Amino acid sequence: MTCTTPLGLEEGTGKGGSCPYQDLHVYMVEGVVEREEEAELGNAFLGNWVEERWSFLFFSAPSEAKVLGLPRMGSDLKLLDTYAFTYDQWQGGGIGPSRIGHFLIVPPWLSIEAAPWEQRIVLDPGVVFGNGLHPTTRDCLSALSMARDYGAFEEVLDLGTGTGILAVAAAVLGARRVTAVDINPLCIKTARKNVQLNDLDGIVKVMEGRADECPLTDADLVMANLPHQAVAGVLDRLGDRSRKRPRCILSGLMRSEARDIRERIRGCGLRLEREWDHEMTWYTLLVTDAKEDASPGCTGKA
Ligand code: SAH
Repeated sequence: MTCTTPLGLEEGTGKGGSCPYQDLHVYMVEGVVEREEEAELGNAFLGNWVEERWSFLFFSAPSEAKVLGLPRMGSDLKLLDTYAFTYDQWQGGGIGPSRIGHFLIVPPWLSIEAAPWEQRIVLDPGVVFGNGLHPTTRDCLSALSMARDYGAFEEVLDLGTGTGILAVAAAVLGARRVTAVDINPLCIKTARKNVQLNDLDGIVKVMEGRADECPLTDADLVMANLPHQAVAGVLDRLGDRSRKRPRCILSGLMRSEARDIRERIRGCGLRLEREWDHEMTWYTLLVTDAKEDASPGCTGKA
């Protein structure tokens, strides 16, 4: 199998190396497999997605014996189910170079140079969300470019960073400090790798944590591609109206959820600058403080 690519290039055509992910074998385990236990899972182990009290163990080859061999298996841990996918099926499409506005997103196994007007982002999505194919990610990147046109941002928060794609993009557009937060340890590992791949260790800090525990006040841009209630929580916490509040990119919203968020935006005296929708299913909103003098283009681009 080859990794197909949205630009019509194929890996292994002389433009780079091969996609490290082909077939995925996923084992659903009841109980949380701890980080120290992961060392026992062998070379085919790719990562552990923990969701409440379940662990989804990802492998590049069948590894049931390894999973059943975990010392706590049968006591604290129980193998519930196994799944097999191709990597493309899991990611919802082929991972390859893709263009989103001025961004060129390239996996590390391909060496594709950006055109002079493009911002290149190297991204290894591994098995977590944020490969650049999902409409919310794409619309967040468009919103980010537009937010930059409203004025430079220094301090950016990326809540629910996944692969770190938006955090890296904000840094590429000139942010001085970016804090990227996710509740999922596998996202933290993946996002840190992507920060390194883009030589942005000095700018982007990736931290494990919940969006609702993250102080918002110092940021001048907050990006939140999150479940609806977590997005609502961001708005609730923007607080003090007498201060200029950060620009926000709010996404991950279905139709009725977007309606609720629009009402909250009005309720807290913010201004909806622009919204994107994908087939009236996924919504992304760019919000500014009503006090902000919003005139895109007046400050120039990165
Ligand atoms: N920012 C990326 C990924 C978005 S997917 C993109 O735009 O493509 C949403 C991410 O939010 C997932 O990685 C999930 O683990 C994380 N998440 C969900 N609820 C969260 C919460 N309450 N606090 C922090 N992260 C959360």
